[in-house]
Amino acid sequence: MANVLVFIDNPGQALKKSSLELLTIARSLGETAVAVNGELSDDVAGTLGAYGAATVFRPSAADLDDYLVAPKAAFLATVADKSGATTVLLENSPEGKEIAARLGIRLSAGVITDVVAIDADGTAHKSVLAGSYTTTAKATTAVTVLSVKANTVDPEPATAPGTPETVTVDAPADATAAAARITSREQKVASGRPDLTDARIVVAGGRGLDGDFGPVEELADALGAAVGASRAATDAGWISHDAQVGQTGKTVSPQLYISAGISGAIQQKAGMQTAKVIVAVNKDAESPVFEIADFGIVGDLFQVLPQATEEIKKR
Ligand code: FAD
Repeated sequence: MANVLVFIDNPGQALKKSSLELLTIARSLGETAVAVNGELSDDVAGTLGAYGAATVFRPSAADLDDYLVAPKAAFLATVADKSGATTVLLENSPEGKEIAARLGIRLSAGVITDVVAIDADGTAHKSVLAGSYTTTAKATTAVTVLSVKANTVDPEPATAPGTPETVTVDAPADATAAAARITSREQKVASGRPDLTDARIVVAGGRGLDGDFGPVEELADALGAAVGASRAATDAGWISHDAQVGQTGKTVSPQLYISAGISGAIQQKAGMQTAKVIVAVNKDAESPVFEIADFGIVGDLFQVLPQATEEIKKR
């Protein structure tokens, strides 16, 4: 059985679905410990126990959260040593991957990113070439660091929940010496919709919306979905850059991805083609998006989307 350490950056007042997925995977591999950066509320501690975490490590420096990746990697390396971790799991976000790389150097550990499954013996299955292939990899080092894509497993609490022991750890004294510090934060206006990378359903719109995201947002709200966009739509300023899906945007792997007025360029596919089911609405039957769609509707999205929203609302 491996000693598994899960890194949860800034859990806030409730754990994200992607964190619960990491805990579920960790439990399937061995004894689970968690390293938390930021506040640890009673609710979060309770959830960690419910998901089988035996120990929770926290940094003694309260301001670790004010820095970008380097000090977090230093803290995590200290925790990995202290906990005897042989496997470290992180989110597959850009920051998670950068921390994984820095941690790999500190621990002389093998690093595997874009992981979609991990076997009991530690063999990882990794998505490559924008989800076109899955490769198999196993590190030969004593410690392996893996960043795991969201939506790879369904989160499941432990059958025997416990109360984790909390341990405070001093990060190395030089951890913040040359690190970039965050000088200000801007609170986003809460949309009430699920986080794009965590969402089970994403409704995404592109240039075909011609500046009007209304039909996409209404369908998303009827389905309890997140709203995504192509780069053409975000560059045009029709929606925030946060919503961009693709090579230079976010990577999503929802159960259902509804693409409306998006042509399906290779850079857009890079962020969404691992979705379980893809539905495309496009008025051009020759659009490349239909090559990867499980279901395609050739039609005007301004007619198709409101009809779908109306039908869903009736249920
Ligand atoms: P278009 O290609 O213009 O397609 C619009 C589609 O809408 C067409 O297929 C049209 O038939 C359809 N349409 C129009 N009106 C309607 C209607 N009324 N009803 C139904 N359908 C309609 N793109 C990304 O998305 N994400 C990225 O991360 C990204 N990164 C990039 C990185 C680099 C380095 C580069 C060079 C490009 C990147 N792009 C990215 C841009 C990408 O190449 C495409 O230009 C972009 O995805 C096109 O967006 P679109 O499909 O919305 O627009």
